[in-house]
Amino acid sequence: MKPVVTRFPPSPTGFLHIGGARTALFNWLYARKTNGKFILRIEDTDEARSSTDSTDAILDALQWLGIDWDEGPYFQTERKDIYRRYIRKLVETGHAYYCSCTPDEITAMREQARARGLKPMYNGKCREKGLSDSDNTVVRLKTPDAGVTVVEDIVKGDTAFQNAEMDDFIIQRSDGSAMYNLAVVVDDITMGINTIIRGDDHLINTPKQILIYKALGADLPVFGHVPMVLGPDKARLSKRHGAMSVGEYRNMGYLPDAVINYLVRLGWSHGDQEFFTRKDLIQKFDLEHLGRSASMFDMQKLTALNARHIQAKSAPDLAPSLLLLLKDLGIAAENDVFTHKVIETLQPRSKTLVEMAESARFYYVDAPDIDEKAAARFLTADTADMLTRIADAIDNLPDFTQDGLEKIFKKIMADFNLGFGKIAQPLRVAVTGTTVSPGIFEMLLALGKEKTVHRIRQAAARISNQAL
Ligand code: GLU
Repeated sequence: MKPVVTRFPPSPTGFLHIGGARTALFNWLYARKTNGKFILRIEDTDEARSSTDSTDAILDALQWLGIDWDEGPYFQTERKDIYRRYIRKLVETGHAYYCSCTPDEITAMREQARARGLKPMYNGKCREKGLSDSDNTVVRLKTPDAGVTVVEDIVKGDTAFQNAEMDDFIIQRSDGSAMYNLAVVVDDITMGINTIIRGDDHLINTPKQILIYKALGADLPVFGHVPMVLGPDKARLSKRHGAMSVGEYRNMGYLPDAVINYLVRLGWSHGDQEFFTRKDLIQKFDLEHLGRSASMFDMQKLTALNARHIQAKSAPDLAPSLLLLLKDLGIAAENDVFTHKVIETLQPRSKTLVEMAESARFYYVDAPDIDEKAAARFLTADTADMLTRIADAIDNLPDFTQDGLEKIFKKIMADFNLGFGKIAQPLRVAVTGTTVSPGIFEMLLALGKEKTVHRIRQAAARISNQAL
């Protein structure tokens, strides 16, 4: 069997949106799973709407998602000669012809068809004229007058299109440029694409594309048209549903693995499994389980998956992305053992990396910002003595370990006749500035002895100053 060759052909007219990323992902996964090839092609023939900024943004987003390509990016604007060659071939073999009808003539034909209760379309006037290339001629494909063109689709099953309703459509404009469907088919043929998974908004193009394949005597690829992604209101996903671009999810602190895990589940299933690592997906992905019904984008589900992926990663894996976000917060952190410990304390309680960066802040600053309400409640005059005793005891610990800290806590609880919380909360506020943090012991151990002692003493001093 021939190796699978898939493709992703974005039009560079904006960022990589969630729907496009999902299409790229399906094609990429299938190529990776079958040890096939995944080709990237930039469909930039609409030169007015295409931009290199968009191309860069799309490539960047794909790279961030970890969707790598084996060939390309190819650019359609660099392939105009190839399209011209194929169009000439179609004319020479009698599958296409030059047409010199003026726009007015075409309008009149449409009117006539409409008047007869038919679909408004070109009537084939130049079909048998044998015109040659000249100014103002377009090239049209000779399409069958009767019968059906069936799109065999691995997702949707067969869809039949009436040939009588398809006119001899234009494949080359009068300025010599190729029309979209021609360029796509020529690219797919010459690039050896044999599997095409794309959004079902393209299904309408597929019968025309099939006629071009047939006219060129080329084998048809396997087609799979996947339903669109919908917003929670069941309308097609759009800007008003919130973040649309992949880049926005990066900025919001989502992990690429979580995003691809979430996207793949919007249209593919493997039993009721929800959590997939990248490796797992490559092993399990198949075309048989692409779904027929549209799925709704649910931000909460994505966030829940993100939390699970954050927990599943190792601290050194998370560190580079976290450091970038910390930098945005004005914190210069290193990818070192300290940061790894910090991450480990925050992994179980961070839904996004942005959340993690914000929660990590107190570890890095010289002195934590003390929340006034928390201070009023927990850094009270009667805690100053206790805090100083704890600082001294920690300072004297030969080994800064959980065991050592627990012993100190026990002694203070007994000496001051206080429950655990009455000690832990003031301590937490002293060290982090707030009442919410990772577990007290793991947090102190990550922070380190020196910073811990320093912060507790600072808090005790603050209390004493206030009492003056
Ligand atoms: N360029 C098209 C798009 O961005 C994709 C065409 C195709 O998959 O055949 O929607």
